[in-house]
Amino acid sequence: MRILVTNDDGYLATGIGVLADAARTLGTVHVVAPDREQSATSHSLTLHYPLRVRTVSEDVQVVDGTPTDCVMLALGELLPERPDFVLSGINHGANLGDDVLYSGTVAAAMEATLLGIPAVALSYAGRDSDNIVQWTEVVARLLRQLLEREDFPPDTLLNVNLPPVAPADLKGVRVSRLGRRAYVGSLTRALDPNGREYFWIGGGESKWWGEGDPDFQAIKDGLISVTPLHLDLTNHRLLEHIGRWQLTL
Ligand code: MN
Repeated sequence: MRILVTNDDGYLATGIGVLADAARTLGTVHVVAPDREQSATSHSLTLHYPLRVRTVSEDVQVVDGTPTDCVMLALGELLPERPDFVLSGINHGANLGDDVLYSGTVAAAMEATLLGIPAVALSYAGRDSDNIVQWTEVVARLLRQLLEREDFPPDTLLNVNLPPVAPADLKGVRVSRLGRRAYVGSLTRALDPNGREYFWIGGGESKWWGEGDPDFQAIKDGLISVTPLHLDLTNHRLLEHIGRWQLTL
């Protein structure tokens, strides 16, 4: 099995090292990852400057671009053969609910899905990324079950979150749906040392809601959360209703 591994925290992050190690128990791994932190870049593509690729070792290349750039370059130019799977992560921090709309980790898996390659995004829902090194074996076991399935769904990526517990205390795996998350107090408005106003997005408190096994609840319950995501944003239920508006010119 040929596996492309990427992330949005940069190639030096703890999480991508753990993911690559876990993936090597399943097949041949090629890492193509951003050369620096690219978290919250979502599905952005670099169009306005040239991308440079640096070869770090035999199976690791780094790109001065986004996670989506990495997947596009890897599949289009860098890899000798088309991979059987694309794995993205393990992100330092959760990608639950609305997070998936901002996440570069999830976007890399989305890009693979768009290009017709099955993909899994993985994130660690704890604060201390050093703890991710404990997860190599569990992640390898989980990936083996996912990647060896004959019926891995087309046009769908799996969004996996690991709970902030020691792997020994893990309660199991739950298939969940995306919850909803709102940030409260995550906008800072202040003055810089020169007295000019600035704004800073980040921090604050999370508020969660959602019914029917939402992903955040699985994490709270000490379970690995697995959510199948597809990329069809059409609101099919509303097609008929909006059609009845009889929009015209
Ligand atoms: Mn990240």
